[in-house]
Amino acid sequence: MTDFASIADKVADGTRLSEDDALFLLRHKDLVAIGQLADTVRRRHHDDEVTYIVDRNINYTNVCVTLCRFCAFYRRPGDAEGYDHPLEVVLEKIRETKALGGVQILLQGGHHPEYGIERYEALFSGIKRGEPIHIHGLSPSEILHCCHVSKLPLPEVLQRMRAAGLDSIPGGGGEILVDRVRKLISPLKTMSDEWLGVMEEAHRQGLRTTATMMFGHVETMEERVEHMRRVREVQDRTAGFTAFISWTFQAPNTEMAEIPMVGGFDYLRTAAVSRIYLDNIENFQASFVTQGIDVAGLALHYGMNDMGSVMIEENVVSSANCECLANIEQLEQAITSAGFTARRRNMFYDRVDGTGRVVDRHHDDAWNDKNPEGDVRPAHIEDALAQAAG
Ligand code: SF4
Repeated sequence: MTDFASIADKVADGTRLSEDDALFLLRHKDLVAIGQLADTVRRRHHDDEVTYIVDRNINYTNVCVTLCRFCAFYRRPGDAEGYDHPLEVVLEKIRETKALGGVQILLQGGHHPEYGIERYEALFSGIKRGEPIHIHGLSPSEILHCCHVSKLPLPEVLQRMRAAGLDSIPGGGGEILVDRVRKLISPLKTMSDEWLGVMEEAHRQGLRTTATMMFGHVETMEERVEHMRRVREVQDRTAGFTAFISWTFQAPNTEMAEIPMVGGFDYLRTAAVSRIYLDNIENFQASFVTQGIDVAGLALHYGMNDMGSVMIEENVVSSANCECLANIEQLEQAITSAGFTARRRNMFYDRVDGTGRVVDRHHDDAWNDKNPEGDVRPAHIEDALAQAAG
């Protein structure tokens, strides 16, 4: 029999929650009590620091053949509003990013019918030659799209992308990892096993990734739990996810515009339950982009320890009329006014200074335990660290 008191006992002594426990919490009305449990778990991993990253979201193309019903960003091939940025445009955006202290680019785009492995190799290696920076790029569905275009197996595509300069993979396209849901909102996109399979293969090859969840559309509470269960199982095997990032579906300008948007209560409750249930993931991001800076600040007391990215450019969510972009001062203000200390980070949660230089290396013990190669950073970070050490 699941009740709040028994769940609270489990959290207090560090016992892992069951799926029934998570479901109970997702339906529980006492938000403050759930927040206290999430804060207990957060404090096992973190002190009073809350991190954020300065990066730039570069959407290299908006041309896409996958036509997801929740997406306001894509244009079909041949559409007059379609674009495909040449390398020089991407390099100029990176120059601007570095000038502002940015430490990585989040490189994502549509499923362009001409993007096979050679296009990606040229893009990644062109970036590394022209303006070296951490490339956090391509969701699992873009990677599988590349496999299909090039008619190559996933392991080979990942190896070649990594050799060309891909440094880590964002968890985009996770949505809800239940095929019933995916068939309703994005029937042409990767199904659950494929998405998770890309992540597990990436971890096996030494690439770190994040995991995401977009909720508040057609899924049930049971399906939110199922999503978290699938992520927790992969993390048990690989420890490769650096963070879990959940956000709420943004309906305007999409084919699903009639769906009422999730408010702060459901957002905070679901985010808090993810922190409690996913006991094997260290970092959880608050979503100021979808919930606004005030709710994101509040989320720091509901288990979140990271404010995500100071986004210099964001196209996908802003296409759905979400303009909650915040600058560095606003993010730091939100963190400090919530009672925490703001620290900049990179993708590995190393602390960095205002120029992006690593000043405090983060050690992820769970990842290092499973990976003989251990705590490897992209070459430009390792070089900088070696120079700093003399
Ligand atoms: S979410 Fe991605 S894959 Fe789906 S339509 Fe939009 S750009 Fe294409």
